[in-house]
This record gives sequence, C-alpha cells and structure tokens, in this order.
Amino acid sequence: MCGIIGYLGGREATPILMESLKRLEYRGYDSAGVAVLEQPTAGQAIRTSVTKSEAKVDMLIEKLEANMPSGKLGIGHTRWATHGKPTYINAHPHTDCHGKIFVVHNGIIENFAELKAELEAEGHEFPSETDTEVVPHLIEKYYKGDFLAAVRAALKRIKGAYALAMFSSEDPELLVGARLNAPLVVGLGEKEYYIASDITAIIPYTKRVLVLGEGEVAAVTPLGAEVSTLDGVTVKSKVVHVDWDVAQAQKGGYDHFMLKEIHESDDAVANAMRGRLTDDGSVSFREFDVPDEQLRDITDVLLLGMGTSLHAAMIGEYVIEDWAGIPARAEDASEFRYRRPTVGNKTLDVVITQSGETADTLVALHQARERGALSVAVTNVIASSAARDADGAIYLHSGPEIGVASTKTLLAHTVSLFLLALRLASVNGRVSLERRQELVEALRALPEQVRMLLEREEEIFALADKYSGYRNFMYAGRGLGYTVALEGALKLKEISYVHAEGTSGGLLKHGPIALLDEQFPVVAICTVSATKDKMVSNVHEIVARNAPVLALVTEGDRSLDGVATDVFVMPAVEEAASVILNTVMLQLFAYRIGVKLGQDVDQPRNLAKSVTVE
Ligand code: GLU
Repeated sequence: MCGIIGYLGGREATPILMESLKRLEYRGYDSAGVAVLEQPTAGQAIRTSVTKSEAKVDMLIEKLEANMPSGKLGIGHTRWATHGKPTYINAHPHTDCHGKIFVVHNGIIENFAELKAELEAEGHEFPSETDTEVVPHLIEKYYKGDFLAAVRAALKRIKGAYALAMFSSEDPELLVGARLNAPLVVGLGEKEYYIASDITAIIPYTKRVLVLGEGEVAAVTPLGAEVSTLDGVTVKSKVVHVDWDVAQAQKGGYDHFMLKEIHESDDAVANAMRGRLTDDGSVSFREFDVPDEQLRDITDVLLLGMGTSLHAAMIGEYVIEDWAGIPARAEDASEFRYRRPTVGNKTLDVVITQSGETADTLVALHQARERGALSVAVTNVIASSAARDADGAIYLHSGPEIGVASTKTLLAHTVSLFLLALRLASVNGRVSLERRQELVEALRALPEQVRMLLEREEEIFALADKYSGYRNFMYAGRGLGYTVALEGALKLKEISYVHAEGTSGGLLKHGPIALLDEQFPVVAICTVSATKDKMVSNVHEIVARNAPVLALVTEGDRSLDGVATDVFVMPAVEEAASVILNTVMLQLFAYRIGVKLGQDVDQPRNLAKSVTVE
C-alpha cells in the first residue's frame, strides 16, 4: 500500500533510509519508521535501533538526527494503515518476542487473525493491532538457525498481499525481501543493495533493478542478491535498466498518476475483497462486526455520498434492493442534510467517502446517527472522521490515490457495496445459496477480467481519439448501466472540461434527446442486463436523430452491429461485474480525451481531492 526501503552496503544506512522515505512521501502515508542494525563496538553485542514516528517523515528525521543509529544494514517504511490505527505502536518495523527479527510490510495479511490466535496460544505476544506483526512472530516460530529458511516457512503460511523487507540480528549480513500481490524491487548498486516497493525510493542511487516475481524471495548479502521461490528453487531474474527521473518513477513510468491508478484497478478490486468473502457467499467485515440478528432487523438502507461516491451509493442502492430485497435509497449528502430526514432506528446508514473527511457526508452521517440509525463508513482512510464517527467501517484498502478525480477507489467502493449487499442478503435469506455462490464466483473472477480489459488500452484510446473533437457528450444507460453512465459523464467533464451529461435510457425521450444531433455523440451502455433490449431501442431512437453512438456491448450480441457508429465489445459477465468493467473502460476513455485536449488530468482546475467544506 505504501512505501518500503531496505539498504545493505558499505555506507551508513540511516541517511539513505531517511532520504528514501522522504522521496516516498508523495504517495501519502500516515506514519513511518526505520530499524538499523548497529555496528557493534569492541566487546559489545550486536543491537538494533528502532525509530518510529506516528506522523510525518520529518518527525522521524528529527528523531534520527538527534540520535543517529550507525550501521550498514537497515529497513524503513511509510505506512498506509489497513489494520489498526496510525499510532506509534502500529508503525513499522515490527519485531518478534525477542526483538531480533525486524519486518516492514506493505499489503494485507488475509489470514492474520488465525495465525495470531495460533501464535498467541504458543505464547507469542503482540503489542500492535496490525496484521503485519504475525510475520516476525511466524519467522521466529520457524527459526532453527537459518533465517532465510525460516522466512520461507513463514511465508508459506501467509495468505494475502505482501511486499516485505526483513532482517535478523542473528544474521547481520543478510537483508531479505519478498513479495506476493504487491510490488517490490531489488536495486543493484556498486557493492551495495536496496530493496524498495517503489523505484522512486532508489532512483538517485542506482538504475539497475531486479524485479521480483510473485511469491519470490530475494536474499541480499554483501556478495550479491539471490532470488528464489518459497520452495528454495533459484530463479534467474532479469536485471532491468530504468532510466526514469524521480517524477517519472513516482508515476511508475506512466504519464500520469490517473493512468497509473487506473492500472491499479485490478489490485483495488482484489484488495477490497481480501479476507472478507467465503465460497458460499458469507461475508465478514472486521471493523463492522454486527450480529446477524441486528442486520436482520434493518428495514431500510440510506446511502450517502457526493460526486463519484454518490454514484457508488447508487450502485449500492440497486444491488441492496435487488439481492437483499431491502428498500434502499442513495442520497446526495449535501441535500439530505437540509431535508427533514426520515431515518429511524432500523435504518442502516451507509456513508461513502474516499477520504473519510467529506464535509457534507459527515454532517449527514451525524444526523442519521442522532436519529438512531446504525451507521457504517465505507472509506479508504483508516481512523478518518467518517470511520471514527460511524458505528463501523468498511475499509477499501486501495492504498493512496493521488489523481484528484477518483478512479480505483470507486471500483473498491463498488466491490465493498457488493459485499455489503451480499452480507445483508445472506442474513435475511433473500438470495439462495446457489445464487450467492454464482455471485462470489463472478466477484473473484473480476481482478483478472479487469487486467484483461486494461490490456485493451490502445483500442480504448483509439476510440477516445476518434471522439475527442466533440464538445458535448451524452452518456445513457439503464439499471446499473445508468450509474455507469452518470459516472462516465462526470469523469469526462472533471478531467477534460468537455460538457457531458448522464441520463437513464428511459429519461432520454423526456428532454435530453432534444439536444442530440450529429455533433452530440452518445455513449450507450448496452451490456447484458434485464433492460438491455430497452437500451437497444433507445440507441435506435438516438441514431434516428443522427447522433454518433459509441455502444458498450456484450460479446456475441450483434443487435447493434450496423446501428451504432462504434461498438466496444465487453466480455460476458454478471451484470454487477459489468459495472466494474464498463467503469474502467470509461475512465480510460475520459483520461485519453483529457490528455488529448492538453488538460491537467491529475489536478483538474477548480477541483480538490477531499472536499472538507460544504
Ligand atoms: N497492513 C499493514 C498495516 O496496516 C501494512 C500497511 C501498509 O501497506 O502500509 O500496518
């Protein structure tokens, strides 16, 4: 999620860790820390110095400058909390019971609760609330004199996502890195080595990097870096030469943060599901752990959001109604707060905010709470105001989002709301086991489907180029496709400043169709749904007004061939899954038009990432 740096070489580690953490700051984080293996002076035992800050890297640097640890091996971390608040104790590095093994981690250990229970029963003690802390304790459990072997044994027990940098004071010339579902590279310098989650951290020191593969471990010693699998089989990794400057490295080689973050959508979707979903469609949320009986009593669901989050709220409204059969309504929080709210103590109030600090949404949350509603915040930021003020939280675990216009976090919001709908549906028995299993399968297939769609970027960009000359756009859809249309239009106007509006297919004839002519194209969401045929009829009506149509259709569906100006073919998936895929497609479409028109897509004019005033 956030940043990792490790160093082993001939120089003092601390200044390198400090500089690297400073360079990783752009990603956003909540706390930071380093561990340095100190050079023993004659007659002294080896010791590790740990320095942490529950706030900014500058505070960590101040502490380090006041008391500079001297050593040639160290690890550093900036944390984006996923498990446990951003506190001093929860800041990394974490250690084992004897303070010998030190670990920094990015990602989520899905099965940490089981592992922690097992280790606690064996006498291990856990001061922090993090998932990460199971890693040093597991390594300790398996340590029989060979640190690398213990790391491998421990990692075989871990499910989830990790990028790790680790060392043990028992093995003072060994720095170990490992990764699964989270990025990690090994930087190769002149007789010195780096481990980093992000090339930005090490770009001034070396341009030669080994990119670790999934499930691989790198053992770095003064003699070199060796990469192997968890089974100990040596891997021949390719050395890549990166010639990026710091700015390019921050964007992972992409032209913009927005594009980089769209390319993180598959991970965002996977991370929002991690550890929450079982095969039979049972869902559990650690920070929203409400008994089934209480959820069974819910009579209605109110979903509040603003901007893109309001569109997520609408998606939630559709699926909660459809799967759980509970009346649900999505509301613009800024309007809701000034109305006479009809909320009772059997209402579930779901507040949707990426930052957890959206002013209007927070006030609306407080009002719903005052009226006795059960509330849950769906947010990306641990311990944000929304998370603290609501009864529970569902965290997105998307990692920081730098682009001002939300992209990957909308997808994580959407998946989280699917899970919430499934949870409500399983407690009230409105969805059969078979249907739940189908939905679980559809959700689990999504990250790979998103990946495959991202590979079609050029095709999407070619369409965007073709349409980039128009000054007005209409986006139309029905059902869940209506929410996709609203969001598609919002994204385009946010980043390209081209006028775009979203409408339901049904509303079109009640006004918006008057705007259409050959200069006013329509993006029509016609992928599989109960109302797909109605959308196809709408497209015929649009075409009759000479408006160009770009239609999103499901593979095998030929009903718009020769009718729509362009069709973009989507894979055949569940309607809910198509929301995710269609949204990613339209994000890339909007991105390309914004770039083509020369706009600052990462920081569009007049917009702020987190709207903390009403
Ligand atoms: N899950 C870990 C924690 O909450 C790591 C977070 C990160 O990736 O920074 O501490």
